[in-house]
Order: sequence, then structure tokens, then C-alpha cells
Amino acid sequence: MLQITKDLLKNTYNFGDETLKLYDIAIKDVEEQFKIYDEIREYNQIKVLKAFQEERISDTHFTNSSGYGYDDIGRDSLDKVYARIFNAEAALVRPHFVNGTHAIGAALFGNLRPGDKLLAVSGKPYDTLHNIIGISGEEKIGSLKEYGVNYEQVDLKEGKFDFEAIKEALKDSSVKVIHIQRSTGYGWRNSFLVSEIGEIISYIKDIREDVNVFVDNCYGEFIDVIEPTDVGADLIAGSLIKNIGGGLAPSGGYIVGKKELVTQAAYRLTIPGIGGECGATFGLMRSLYQGLFLAPHVAMEAVKGAVFCARIMELAGFEVLPKYDEKRSDIIQSIKFGDPKKVIDFCKGIQHGSPIDSYVECEPWAMPGYKDEVIMAAGAFIQGASIELSADAPIREPYIAYLQGGLTFDHAKIGILIALNNVLNK
Ligand SMILES: *Cc1c(COP(=O)(O)O)cnc(C)c1O
Repeated sequence: MLQITKDLLKNTYNFGDETLKLYDIAIKDVEEQFKIYDEIREYNQIKVLKAFQEERISDTHFTNSSGYGYDDIGRDSLDKVYARIFNAEAALVRPHFVNGTHAIGAALFGNLRPGDKLLAVSGKPYDTLHNIIGISGEEKIGSLKEYGVNYEQVDLKEGKFDFEAIKEALKDSSVKVIHIQRSTGYGWRNSFLVSEIGEIISYIKDIREDVNVFVDNCYGEFIDVIEPTDVGADLIAGSLIKNIGGGLAPSGGYIVGKKELVTQAAYRLTIPGIGGECGATFGLMRSLYQGLFLAPHVAMEAVKGAVFCARIMELAGFEVLPKYDEKRSDIIQSIKFGDPKKVIDFCKGIQHGSPIDSYVECEPWAMPGYKDEVIMAAGAFIQGASIELSADAPIREPYIAYLQGGLTFDHAKIGILIALNNVLNK
């Protein structure tokens, strides 16, 4: 960093000497890691570009349909572009999904029937799925459970898949869908590498060819050169305001996988018989295409932010997961603070480092879909977009903050420095 940049940073944000000292060490330590991520970015950029070219995307695909949205060529072609990128038969990419949870919900509801069982093999799923499954303790809200779909969970064994226990659970012939979560969610574990997901899928399919494997791919897109659909996942889903929207998609979610399963999911997004063939796109297609095009780059900017954060927070004496030099499969960085004040100071710092709402003091709050109070720092162009620099922490022991996003590494770095400085000096 140029001395004038350093002076500007110091004078603008009043950084203490310790913060700047740690910065100098951390930024050198992460250099080697960044080279790895540059390679992944380049590979995925080619993959995305190729898919656009093969589908002959042109200006006419930036449609602005209304009403039923019949024959929206922009919408239908974007599905095909996604399917190519994910090496899958079909895709359903829609701004009509209100978030990732909705897309996951449609995938599960669409492909499970009364009497079937959903088997989660990567431990307890992400918090917002508890209401979908019916394990949140809330009655009568239309969960899978209420519709007669059963649920079983195989917990992880030291952060890894428990092969033996999974084999045992597969003896139940009512198991129809397997749930795997790639990202950590609000858990203290490494994200699953796509290769690890591939191993467990092969293992499961060797035992039970008839089950469908669903992967919650949230936060995982473009972090590796392969995706779960490249290693046997039948169906995956995710959010457009995370990695794959590239920071430009204003809302939405996607489902990709086997044609029949995507169709069933589409019947839940809309209605049987209609599926993905209706749905006006209100002039949003340009942003969805352009965001996808930028996504391989943006995802790596976010990862670089996470890697830098891991290194500098570790140097500052906090336990982090993953460590800066571990292979990653999502954009999440967990930092264990062990202290409610520190975790709140950190999140407030991220908020103060945002381009939008930087003056806001974020506070812990009850959030729909989450059990504990959560503090969420996000000063984003797109409300709640976690591909933009953001941090959240459920206020419970051991007070872990989950940092993710950053449309540019330069910005992520500044936000993290402000957050660290806050923790060190407040
Ligand atoms: C973000 C996320 C979801 C979906 O969350 P939304 O806020 O509804 O988009 C689901 N699973 C995991 C692991 C996630 O990270």
C-alpha cells in the first residue's frame, strides 16, 4: 500500500498503531493464497463467458415482460445459461424467489410427498430451514412435517460426514431426499469442499440409487472450479443476492439440477401445470445476466476479504475458522470472540465501514426465521445482500461473528480494519 494511501486511511478512520501494524503483516501473509483464488476466478470467468456465447445471448434477452410473462426469452435463456454453467439438465432462475430459503423450500416441497422422509446428512440445517422442515417448535405453519413429510438428521462427526451413521439411516426405505449443506451457516465447521460432497454422494448412491440428493449451495458458487452438480448432486439451490448475483441481481433465487426435479420445484414456486413457463420479469433480466457475468470475479473479491480477515483477526489473538491458508468452499469467515461486547463492536465496525448507512449503529434484534437475537451489519446497495460486505452474529455463546462479502477487496479490507480497530480500541 502506498504511504499516501496509508496516511489517508489512518487520518480518515483514526486507526491505532496496533491495527496498522497487524495490517502490514496480514497483507503480506495472504499474498500466496490470493494467487490460488485468481486461478479459480479465471477458470470460472471462462466457464460463464462460454455459457453466454453458447446460448447466443444478445440484447433481445434483456426482456421486460409483464402479465403472465409467456415466452419471456430472457428468462428462459437465463435458465439455460445457468444449466450450462452447472453442467445440469435444467434450471429455474427467478426474481420471484424472495430469498434463498424460498428456493430451497420450493426444491424440498416440490420433491417430497406425504410419508416420505428427508434425511439431512450434514447435521442441523441452516436456521431458516427449521420452519420449512418443522423442527422449529412452531406448530401449524405449513411445514413439511405438517404435510406428513418426516425428517431425520445425521450429525457430523468431528466436522465431517458420518459415513456409518448415514448408511444406517439409509436403511429406511421412506428416505427420498438427502439434504447436504455446503456452507457453514451459523455453525463452527469448515464448509464442505465440492470433492467431499462428491464422495458422500457416491457413497449414498452406491447404497441407494433411488434417493435424490439436494445440496444447499448458498455462498458456494464459483469458490471452486466445480459445483455440486458436477459431482452427482441431483438438485441444488441458492440465493441471487449472494455470490451468483454478482452484486447486481436485485433479488431472487435459483434451482438447478435434473429436469424432472426442477419441474417439480417450479410447480411449487408457481403452481402445477404452470411451473416455470409463466412469471413476468419486470425488466430485471439485464441485471441478472450482468450480475452472473461478474459473479466469478466478485465471489473472489469476497473470498480475498475473508482470507485477509482470517489472517488479521488471528494475528490479533482470535480463533478463526477457516484459517487463512485453508482451502475454502464458501465466502464465510467465522471469528470467535467469546465476548458479547467484542462481537457487537466488530459488527458495528463493519456497519461503519459500509458505503450505505455507515452512520447507523446496528444492534442485536429478533429476526424472522432465527431463534436467538441476531446482530446484522450490512450497509448494502441491495437490502440484505450478503455478497456485499456484511457481518452477522447470533447473540449466543461463544459469540461468533460470521463475516462475508465485499464487492471489492479494497472495500472489504477497509471494513475489516475499522471493525478490528473498534474491537481493539473501544
Ligand atoms: C443464506 C443461506 C440460506 C438462505 O438464506 P436466505 O437469507 O433466505 O437467502 C440457506 N442456507 C445457507 C447455508 C445460507 O447461507
